[in-house]
Amino acid sequence: MPYVVTQSCCSDASCVVACPVNCIHPAPGEPGFATAEMLYVDADSCVDCGACATACPVDAIKPHTRLSEAELPFLDINAAYFDVFPHADRTPLAVVAAQRRMKQPRPVHVAVVGAGPAGLYVADELLRHPETRVDVLDRLPTPYGLVRAGVAPDHPHTKRATTLFAAIEAEPGFRYLLGVGVGEGPGAAVTHAELVAHYDAVVYAVGAASDKALGVPGEDLPGSLSATDLVGWYNGHPDKQDLAVDLGHERAVVVGNGNVALDVARVLTADPDELAGTDLARVPWAVLAGSGVREVVVLGRRGPDQAAFTLPELVGLAALRGVNVVVDTQGAALSEGEAPGVEGDLRRQVLAELASRTPDPALRTIVLRFLTSPTRLLAGPDGRVGGIELVRNELVADAAGVPRARSTGETEVLPVGLVLRSVGYHGEPVDGLPHDAATGTVPHTAGRVVPGVYVAGWVKRGPSGFIGTNKADAQETVSTLLDDLDAGLVAGPEASVGGPRSHRGDLARVLRERGVAVVDLAGWRAIDAEERRRGAAAGRPRTKVVDVAEMHRIAAQTADARPRRRTLLGVRTAGRA
Ligand code: NAP
Repeated sequence: MPYVVTQSCCSDASCVVACPVNCIHPAPGEPGFATAEMLYVDADSCVDCGACATACPVDAIKPHTRLSEAELPFLDINAAYFDVFPHADRTPLAVVAAQRRMKQPRPVHVAVVGAGPAGLYVADELLRHPETRVDVLDRLPTPYGLVRAGVAPDHPHTKRATTLFAAIEAEPGFRYLLGVGVGEGPGAAVTHAELVAHYDAVVYAVGAASDKALGVPGEDLPGSLSATDLVGWYNGHPDKQDLAVDLGHERAVVVGNGNVALDVARVLTADPDELAGTDLARVPWAVLAGSGVREVVVLGRRGPDQAAFTLPELVGLAALRGVNVVVDTQGAALSEGEAPGVEGDLRRQVLAELASRTPDPALRTIVLRFLTSPTRLLAGPDGRVGGIELVRNELVADAAGVPRARSTGETEVLPVGLVLRSVGYHGEPVDGLPHDAATGTVPHTAGRVVPGVYVAGWVKRGPSGFIGTNKADAQETVSTLLDDLDAGLVAGPEASVGGPRSHRGDLARVLRERGVAVVDLAGWRAIDAEERRRGAAAGRPRTKVVDVAEMHRIAAQTADARPRRRTLLGVRTAGRA
């Protein structure tokens, strides 16, 4: 009974480390690791021990007998990988590297800015060293970044990564300083310079807060929105709750061919009754329940072989019930030439099957359309988006042989009431750090900006990969940080020039003196418990609190109710950051 990796694979390779017979690939260090769309179990060598399933943070690994109908294609997908990459050498890999130790152990205090997956994986790596203490700061009173505000509500398995995060935040030496903005702008409570003064090292894991523009006329019309804003809106991100989302028109167009584009297309066409059982925010749910949208057209500027959405997500889309998923080939061949790799080959098979389907007119429809770009958005009589002008593209290889979209000049206008640009996230400048405007990232070497200041996650590598991709990314950054400590490039508190350094305890005092309402782990747990309580009453996993002031109120009530308790290190007020 082999185990099978399914759609929600996060690629953090916890399963690879757990597997006693080295049957999960590509493993860290092997070609394809960190670029493959998922990991795969080799049925021939799997010994059915279930260790991988236990280790998987997102419940993506199952015995083949427990696959749902929608997951059955993953049996073939796992097998197909090994047809192409047999990994003939089954010598167990030393995937668990020996635990590194600091050359001159001493207490090290690190601030991690950003409580999303990247920041929490960094904290986890640092806390493998008993000398370290890690404060994780976030602008919001709630942690988990895009796992809370980005993962689609109909992907509850992926959200199980929060179980791993809950284990990380419970590690000794971990502390949250939530509700604390870092930088110079309005709302910031502490500057970069102050963090550098209070900690041995600062690691920024602030993600990519903005999104790319299309650069076509009419893009700013009402009714033209960023998909990333829409995702934040329906996921209850406090900053996005005022988004004006009008779903009165029958057609929506999503520009872009990534996994986010598929997420929003699914949510816009989902049965409201099914969404009611998810953690989708309440007001957006009511708007979606009253939606008049019947068709969502997803536009790829290049062909199906170049689509950025991953095979597991496409397979999940194809398995949807209650919605038509069709491919509009515009009369062109779906794919030409040799398929790009094993995943590309399987992708072609799924798309060909979708193209052969006959849509049920009673159902909502997702149309995947390729080789098409918007050239302008047109205003309707009410001043909102009423149409989108599209141009047909052809593929032309650039100097490096990469197929690029080139306009044929052949245009058409499609009536539409909502346009969502889903063409990728983009990182904003971080106060005090250099910025590469083209990539939206901070220039770095293996995570080092300068000794003592580091980056991890999307602000380091750009908006790519999956939740678990951040594990290997965090390992690299922490390894660089440890190199700098070992080389004496990072001054310790006692080694600082100009007298004794401040330490992280002082920062908490400074924040209190500034009147900053810091939410600590207990405060976050109180918000979490309240959301679960409200959700349970409504038969849902949670009902998110979307108002920052209310989050603070819930956290503060718990802080007031908490007794002072004695710890091994002295008296601590649990409600205080
Ligand atoms: P993405 O994967 O980078 O995809 C962006 C898409 O936009 C590409 O298809 C790109 O086409 C297209 N595009 C860019 N500029 C365009 C333009 N001017 N006109 C038309 N199309 C344009 O971005 P994303 O979907 O935002 O996802 C971000 C990351 O989050 C990815 O790593 C993704 O896998 C991850 N994610 C994962 C999941 C999941 O695992 N379930 C869910 C959501 C997000 P070209 O290829 O032609 O440039």
